[in-house]
Amino acid sequence: MKSIKSYAAESAEQPLAPFALDRREPGADDVEIKILFCGVCHSDIHTARNEWGATMYPVVPGHEIVGTVTRAGENVSKFKVGDTVGVGCFVDSCGHCESCKDDQEQYCENGHTQTYNAYEQDKKTITYGGYSSHIVVTQDFVLSVSDKLPLEKVAPLLCAGITTYSPLRHWGVKEGHKLAVVGLGGLGHMAVKLASSMGAEVTMLSRSPKKEKDAAELGADHFKLTTDKDTMKELAGTFDFIIDTVSAEHDYDEYLALLKTNGVMVLLGVPPVPATVSPAGLIFGRRSLVGSLVGGIKETQEMLDYCAAHNITSDVEIININQINEAYERTLAGDVHYRFVIDMATL
Ligand code: NAP
Ligand code: ZN
Repeated sequence: MKSIKSYAAESAEQPLAPFALDRREPGADDVEIKILFCGVCHSDIHTARNEWGATMYPVVPGHEIVGTVTRAGENVSKFKVGDTVGVGCFVDSCGHCESCKDDQEQYCENGHTQTYNAYEQDKKTITYGGYSSHIVVTQDFVLSVSDKLPLEKVAPLLCAGITTYSPLRHWGVKEGHKLAVVGLGGLGHMAVKLASSMGAEVTMLSRSPKKEKDAAELGADHFKLTTDKDTMKELAGTFDFIIDTVSAEHDYDEYLALLKTNGVMVLLGVPPVPATVSPAGLIFGRRSLVGSLVGGIKETQEMLDYCAAHNITSDVEIININQINEAYERTLAGDVHYRFVIDMATL
């Protein structure tokens, strides 16, 4: 065991604060990573504040990790000391179920191991995330990161990037498709960049008029205010796809009505409240309401390589670790442009 520095929430009510964390020594298949940057996902906030009701305290959030390999176990063949690597939303899975064999470890039928607030595959050791100086991860769940792009802007690709890339690929989004993104935050801004890079005509649906200029710079072809009832009426039946990234309670029927016949609305945001959906809104127009969870390791590597090839990164605001609580408040207020990333050298 090695004691390292981290930031943890000790309860739903307490702000995050310095915490001494024990990490395992790297085993034969493990890679030890010195963390350089860690993005701040809204899931970190949901978890730190126990909004999903399953937080095990103390919790060290963070699943958008980029760093350098500092040690590698004797069986490690994919990485060597000094390599630049990434870790995303999960760090292990059973490896033998149908989903794992199909490179969809995020849907592991025996339960994948999330990067924090989860159990390792031993089903008893709790995981701690990237708001920390180092992390130890089995090599098969470590990603290769190109040094071509600025690393602080790459970190958010490990969650916001893959979470939006995966459904765009799964549903075959391409030129000729009209696609709307709901909510311009961390996931939303990556959805705009990626969908537009794949050739879709992208409409940003936002409740924040001040984000219109940014949406255009990110690559959105149109910007529509969801608070304007007339606009929402005009948009009825317009889109082939809607990517919903909203983190708080909202009316799904209002957006389903904007789909064309056979249109698909992909839920990515996980508001901590149950939703109601009108069956008629789906039946008339044979619309689909679907979900999607991050992406498998193989696809995450494909996404990182795609972003390196297409020069796609996240728009970030770098913070010191002691600004994390303020960053949470600003994210909740929708004041994020468009991902906070912690410079781990400040830990
Ligand atoms: P974020 O940066 O806070 O962005 C969320 C955006 O949603 C906001 O910027 C805002 O955009 C909009 N929004 C917030 N509250 C709203 C409300 N009450 N009504 C309407 N719109 C509202 O969050 P994020 O990091 O992108 O994460 C978004 C959600 O995805 C979270 O619930 C997170 O837990 C979830 N998530 C899911 C996965 C997955 O695998 N499915 C992975 C990562 C995260 P506007 O100001 O433009 O309206
Ligand atoms: Zn995330």
